[in-house]
Parts: sequence; structure tokens; C-alpha cells
Amino acid sequence: MDVSYILNDLNDAQRQAVCSTERNLLILAGAGSGKTRVLVHRIAWLIQAENVSPFGILSVTFTNKAASEMRGRIESLLNTPTKGMWVGTFHGLAHRLLRTHWREANLPQNFQVIDSEDQHRAIKRIVRELELDDTQWQPKQVQWFINARKDEGQRPDNIEHHNDPYLEQLIVIYKAYETMCQRSGLVDFAELLLRAHELWLKQPTVLAHYQQRFSNVLVDEFQDTNAIQYAWLRMLVGTSGRIFVVGDDDQSIYGWRGARIEHIQKIQNDFPETGVVKLEQNYRSTGVILEAANALISVNTGRLGKNLWTDGKKGDPISLFSAFNEIDEARFVVNQIMKHVQEGGTRAETAILYRSNAQSRVFEEALFQLNIPYRVYGGLRFFERAEIKDALSYLRLIANRADDAAFERIVNTPTRGIGARSMEEVRMHARQYQISLWEASKAIVSDNRMSGRATNAIATFLTLIEQLSQETKERTLADKVEQTLKLSTLLHYHKNDKSEKAQTRLENLEELITAASHFRYEEGDEEPMDELSAFLSHAALEAGENQGDQWEDCVQLMTLHSAKGLEFPLVFLCGVEEGLFPHQRSTSDETKLEEERRLCYVGMTRAMKQLYFSHAQSRRLHGTDTYPSKSRFIEELPTELIQEVRLKGKVTQPTQHQSKKRTYASTKTSSYNGLRLGQRVSHGKFGEGVVLQFEGESNQARIQVQFDQAGSKWLVMSYANLQGV
Ligand code: ATP
Ligand code: MG
Repeated sequence: MDVSYILNDLNDAQRQAVCSTERNLLILAGAGSGKTRVLVHRIAWLIQAENVSPFGILSVTFTNKAASEMRGRIESLLNTPTKGMWVGTFHGLAHRLLRTHWREANLPQNFQVIDSEDQHRAIKRIVRELELDDTQWQPKQVQWFINARKDEGQRPDNIEHHNDPYLEQLIVIYKAYETMCQRSGLVDFAELLLRAHELWLKQPTVLAHYQQRFSNVLVDEFQDTNAIQYAWLRMLVGTSGRIFVVGDDDQSIYGWRGARIEHIQKIQNDFPETGVVKLEQNYRSTGVILEAANALISVNTGRLGKNLWTDGKKGDPISLFSAFNEIDEARFVVNQIMKHVQEGGTRAETAILYRSNAQSRVFEEALFQLNIPYRVYGGLRFFERAEIKDALSYLRLIANRADDAAFERIVNTPTRGIGARSMEEVRMHARQYQISLWEASKAIVSDNRMSGRATNAIATFLTLIEQLSQETKERTLADKVEQTLKLSTLLHYHKNDKSEKAQTRLENLEELITAASHFRYEEGDEEPMDELSAFLSHAALEAGENQGDQWEDCVQLMTLHSAKGLEFPLVFLCGVEEGLFPHQRSTSDETKLEEERRLCYVGMTRAMKQLYFSHAQSRRLHGTDTYPSKSRFIEELPTELIQEVRLKGKVTQPTQHQSKKRTYASTKTSSYNGLRLGQRVSHGKFGEGVVLQFEGESNQARIQVQFDQAGSKWLVMSYANLQGV
């Protein structure tokens, strides 16, 4: 077979990496130099030129989005589906292993994956059960502790406490949490990795099987592997496999989650005969963007050192927008996106990147008001919304009665008269006999040991779940979901609530039925599971992937962390302010500061053609007003590459912030078409409210009103038909 097509469109260094005959290979290269491309081509090369079976290939990357992109790229290069090949995230692959080897991993067959919010709730409950003060033993911190220990491969019994009472107590909580998870068949994200590693350690025959099977292991974004992932890879590769890793020390951004840059250096010691290839030509960004990114990252010390260059166009300067506040910032960004689309660009080519999830809301509102489709990656994703989690908890309990987390969540949602006292009783009983909440409830009902009303309420709940389970047994997944939403009265509950939020919740629940009807469980070569469990695992693992319409042309919103590996023609880096980015937590610690700088480098190098930085002079975050100065990262860029932009004369400038109240006075316009700032007005649809801001001129003029019921809205002045009241 002629395999030369695989090597077309690669430069010499890339080609050398793709057809390398070294046993193991490390590709160390900067952003946009074609690392992922090389990895994908390497897979094609192995299959086509070296006759490696697709079954012998395991390829791992960092996010679900990156994994599905990788699958797509391999398929189009090979022109065949990737079936049989293991391509996924560390968590996804670990999950697949545990589903297949649940017995060997000491898990129930129908174990459920819980996300970080469920984990947080569970820990909170345990802290309470242990009668500890949750201001001293904050669930968030305990969660952090447990996950960090798991990432290091440590079970409670392996942790040295050196008679430190604080540590001793944390270990006790960790242990109680572990017991609860084991009893309920629950597995959190860190546990997926730890169990998968223990599977290798404790089951040599299983390990030997996979070692023999996966002759070639490939890893993208290697700089972000943590201790447990690294150990897992090492064991899998063993003495006979080959490993091919690509990474960039300048893009290591998960140190806070236990990732170790040193793995890049260790790899040559730990894996014998490892060659190194460096790629230095960048194909992604314009000369200006690359030069600025290089300048920024050069401030960091202790780098492995790379020299990135491009022979592409110099391109436009980087734009810097200084906004009055976060609303002004969002409006500017959205306007630029609209301009981009008017000029023939697509929405999907644009990305709004920010440091923290909380920043997305203002952008979402601005986009929503103008009816511009968008997708948020990360943050409050579809499967994380409260109403969706309620619905999923019903399904989880149907699948697994021992799922205490699900039980807790829905036992009284919607309310059915099960009070805190009754629940306390159930919990105590469960604790005393080391049984699930479900079993405990059954026992309490049959003993008749509570008041008639309380017993009835619990009995009704138990019957409901049994009934649901029976009635949905033979149905399709979508029917199961629909029936559950109806019988649980969740739909009814939200229908009765007339607020705007409830309407969204209802839409989300309906979307869940759609998601279920689109869901296809593809049986791999692992032991089959039932469709419902597959769907629930999918919901926990792939949160975010199903949001919005996959094929719709949407503006992309995400945190800088989730943007890793991706590229977009037009990128907005928003909220580039001291305290936000670099993050407050990091400013006093040089190591953390360097990680923030790498994060900024990651953000900048996502941009192909145009890059915008924006910062706000005042920002309301978590309910308080702040007046941040622009980030040091902006100051670190060469000034000649930056152009400041401000839409002159179009925006009215607020002269003051009146402490907590968000009222703006305008220097130029304090009244407009007979309306004044601060005036009360009434609108046909939205009711009464207060005028907050004006913007624009003549028929472009817009007005922002804070409505009492409907919240803040931007309206076009000429259509709004506002009446003074
Ligand atoms: P990151 O560090 O951000 O993950 P990367 O090193 O993985 O980046 P890729 O995403 O593989 O880089 O490649 C960046 C862009 O450059 C892609 O659009 C890719 O198709 C393109 N590219 C890479 N190599 C070549 C080449 N030899 N010829 C043309 N385009 C290339
Ligand atoms: Mg990449």
C-alpha cells in the first residue's frame, strides 16, 4: 500500500517523528507546532505502514472535546471508523476498564460515576454524620484533600499522619467517605484513575492482557499528567510496549491538580530508549501573535527552552480594549463578533476565553439578548443543572437502589412531606447497620417505628421508585426518561411554577428526553452494560458535550483551561486584570504566578488570526464591586504589538460608581428622548423598571433598563415604547 500520503503536508521534523523507529519517543514542542497533528499521523502510520492492528493502539488526551476531535481526525485520515481503537481521556478510558473488570476492581456491576458536585454533597453529609463542625472541616477543603491524595495514589491507610491531629481527622473523613462510596457503588473522578491503577497493581493477569494488547500507547498534552496517570501509563507500557508522547512544558497548567512538569524530564529515565524530537515551526498563529506569546512566556524561569517561529503573515496588531465594567466588556466583544459574522466569518470561529467560570454569565446574557447562538464549555453545563441532576437521580436510583447520593437528592424533591427529622432517622439506621439509605427506609417502614405520616411519606417514595422501575423496564431509554419525569411529578412541579427560571428548567428537562433519544450506546469490546447505566455514565463523564445543537454555528465560550489544544481564528481573552488573571491566589507565589503566565500563553496561542485582550475598570464579581488594574501580563507584552481600541463617541462613559448600587451617570447624556437615568419607566411586556444606561445614537440608540421582574434588559430605543411612570 502506498502510505506516502500520510507524510504529505508534514515538515521534516514532523515526518521524522511520525515514522520514527525509536522504541519510545518524546516530542517536545511549542504551541501550534503540529504536535497533535503528528500524533494523529503517527497512528495512521502505525496502522498503514507498520501493520499495527487498530486494537493494539491506545491514545489518550485531556478533554472530551479533544478526544472526539482526535477520533475525527484519525477517521478522516484513514478513511475508516476508529472502532476497536481506544481513543479517549484518562477518565474515559479508566471508566471503560472498570466497566469491563468491575469484579476484579471490587465494584458492583452497576456502579455509578459521580461528579464533583455530588462528591461535595456526599462529603458534606459525612462531615455532619461524624458530628464535626463544618466551618472547621469545610467540605470543599476536605474534598480537595481527598482528591489530592487519590491523585497521588494514596488510600487512607497509606497516609502518614505523624500524629498530627488535623491530618488524622482528615484521614478519618476520607475513610468514612470511602466506605460510603463502596457501599453505594459510587465512583468519583479521582477514584476512576486510582481504581484503574490498582487494577494493574492487584490483577497481574488483567495487566498482562492489556500490556500484550496495547503495543502502542500515545499521549497528547503529556505535560499535564499527574502522578497516578503517569504510574498507570508506566505499568501499561511495561517492558514490551512503546510510548509516544507529545507535550509542551510552557503549557503545563494543571499543577494545582497535581500535574507534574517533571514527567517530561523523567520520561527518558523511566522508559528506556526514548528519542526526542523538537518541532519549532508554528503553523497556527500570525507573526504578531506568536511574537507576543513568546515575549510573555520568556518572563518565566526554568523553561526547557524552545524557539518558535512562523513563516506566515505578520498579521494585525493585538487589540486591547479597556472597558468601563464587565457589561461594557461583554457588549464590546459581542459587537466585534457580530462584525466578524457580517464580514462573512462564522460564529464557531470565535472564542471568548476567561479565567473563571463565573465570568461567562455576562457574556451569555449579552449573546442571548441579541439572539446569537453560543455554547459554553465547562461551567454550569447541561448535565450539571439542578433540575437535570434531580431527574438523573431518579434514573440512578432505578438503576441502583444503593445509590445513597441519588437517594438523598430526590427523597424529598419534589416535596412529599419527608422532613429533616425523618431523614435523620433513616441515616442513623443506615449508619448503625451499615446499609444503604434505601434498605434503611424499607426497614423503618416495615417496623412502623415513625409517626404514621412520616412512614407514609417514605413508603410512598419507595413505592414510586419500585413502580417506576417496573413500568419502565421494557421501554426505550427516551421513554424511560419521559415516564420518569412524569411519574416523579418533576415535570408537573416545574410546570406549576410560573417564573421565567422554571420555564428554562422545563425546557432543560425536555431537552433531557431529546438527549436520551439521541443517545446511542455503542458496545465496544468491553462487557456490555445496560443502556440506562451507559447513559448515566455518559451524563457524568461527558457533561457539556451535549449542550446546544452540536451542528449549529455557535460562539464558543470557555475557560482558558478548557481551551487547551484548540484553535480559533478570532480569540477574545477577557477579564485580563490583576486579581482575576493572574488569579488572586497566585499573585504572591512565584510558582503559581508562572503557572498563570503559562495559562495566558495557552490562551494567546489559541488565536490564529486575531487576538483581543480586554479588561474592565470596574467589575462586579461574586456580588461585590472591584476596581482592578489591568493585568501585569498585558504590561509584559511588547507595546509595539498592541493597539488600544475604544469605540469613540458611541458609548457613554460612567463618571462614578455609587458604591454598591449600579447606577451610572453619563458625562454626555443624562437624558435621552425625554428619559433620564434613574427614571422609573414601564414597558408593555417587561413591566416597570429603572433606566440604567444609554448607548449609541439616533436609530442605533439603545437603553438599559433594570426591570423589577424581568431583570436587566437592553432595548432598542425606537422600538421599546417606554412610558415614564
Ligand atoms: P497545541 O500545543 O496548542 O496543542 P499543537 O502543537 O498540537 O498545538 P496542532 O493543533 O497539531 O498543534 O497544529 C496547529 C495547526 O497547524 C493546525 O491547524 C494544524 O493543522 C496546522 N499544521 C501543523 N503542521 C502543519 C504542516 N506541516 N503544514 C500545514 N499545517 C500544519
Ligand atoms: Mg495539540
